[in-house]
Amino acid sequence: MNTFSIAIHGGAGTLVKGMMTPELEAKYRAALKSALTTGYELLEQGGTAVDAVERAVQILEDSPLFNAGKGAVFTATETHEMDASIMDGKTLNAGAVSLITGIKNPVSLARDVMEKSEHVFLAGEGAMAFAKDLNYALEDTSYFYDELRHQQWLDLKDTDTFQLDHSTKKDSKFGTVGAVACDKDGNIAAATSTGGMTNKKWGRVGDSPMIGAGNYAHNKTCAISCTGSGEFFIRGVVAYDVACLIEHKQMSLEAAAKEVIHTRVAEIGGDGGLIAVDAKGNIAMPFNTEGMYRASRSSEGTETIAIYK
Ligand code: ASP
Repeated sequence: MNTFSIAIHGGAGTLVKGMMTPELEAKYRAALKSALTTGYELLEQGGTAVDAVERAVQILEDSPLFNAGKGAVFTATETHEMDASIMDGKTLNAGAVSLITGIKNPVSLARDVMEKSEHVFLAGEGAMAFAKDLNYALEDTSYFYDELRHQQWLDLKDTDTFQLDHSTKKDSKFGTVGAVACDKDGNIAAATSTGGMTNKKWGRVGDSPMIGAGNYAHNKTCAISCTGSGEFFIRGVVAYDVACLIEHKQMSLEAAAKEVIHTRVAEIGGDGGLIAVDAKGNIAMPFNTEGMYRASRSSEGTETIAIYK
C-alpha cells in the first residue's frame, strides 16, 4: 500500500501583534484539526484523494474563521464573490468557478463543473445558472455575514484600496483555504477556495480558481494549493511552476516547493505560501510570510498543526 497523506491550509500572512489571543488560536487549531482528521480518515477508509480534498475544504468553508464560504470577505459593493477550484492528478480533470454568490460550498460546485459539465472554468452568472440547473440551494446573505469581516470592509469602503487580508489595515493575512492529498492508490488531488480580497471590485479574480496558478495536480509530479497575493501567484504560474521544477529539473517536492516560494515568488514581489504532496505521500508546506495556518498528516505517523514558523 502506498503511503497516504493530506495537507491543508487556511491562508498565509502576517498577524498584527495582539490580534491573536490564546482563545482565537485554539479555535483556529480546532478548525484545522477537524478538517485534517476528516480528510485523513476518509483516505484511511480507502477514499480517493479527490473526495478527501473536497471534504476537507468543505469543512474549512463552513468555518467563519477563514476567507472562504461562510467566512468570505466583502466586495466593494458589500456582497460576497467566491472562487474555487479542484483538480484530479490521476486524470488531469479539473473544475473551477469564480464570482459566485450564495453557494455554501464553492468547492463542490467546482467539482460539479469537473464531473458534470464539459468545461473546466465557469464564471459569474453562467456559473450560477449551472448551479441552478443542479438545484443548488442558495444561502441568504445573512449566512455569510460576519461582524469582523464587515468592519474590515467598512474600513476600506469608498476607497480604492482593496486588501488581501481578513484583519486590520496593517495586517496582511490571506485567509484562502486549500487541501492536497495522496490516497492509498497513489493518486493525488488539490482543491482551493476563497472569498478573494476585501473591497475587491470590477470582477477581480485571484489565483485560487486558476488551474496552474493557485491550484494544480498531476500524479507524475505533485498536487498544490496556494495562498497569498493572487496577482503575483498568477504571474508566477506558481502551482505549475513547482510541477515543472520536479518534472524538468528532477527536484524533490520539498526543494521545488521551497525554490518557488522563497526565490521565484519572492523575486517578483509576491508573498504567501503553498501546500504540496506527491504520489509517494511526501508533504511540503513552505511560506515566505510570518505564518500560514496549516496542518498535515501522513500514514507514516506524522501530524502537524501550526500557524507560525
Ligand atoms: N490568493 C487569494 C487571492 O488572491 C487570496 C488568499 O490567498 O487569501 O484571491
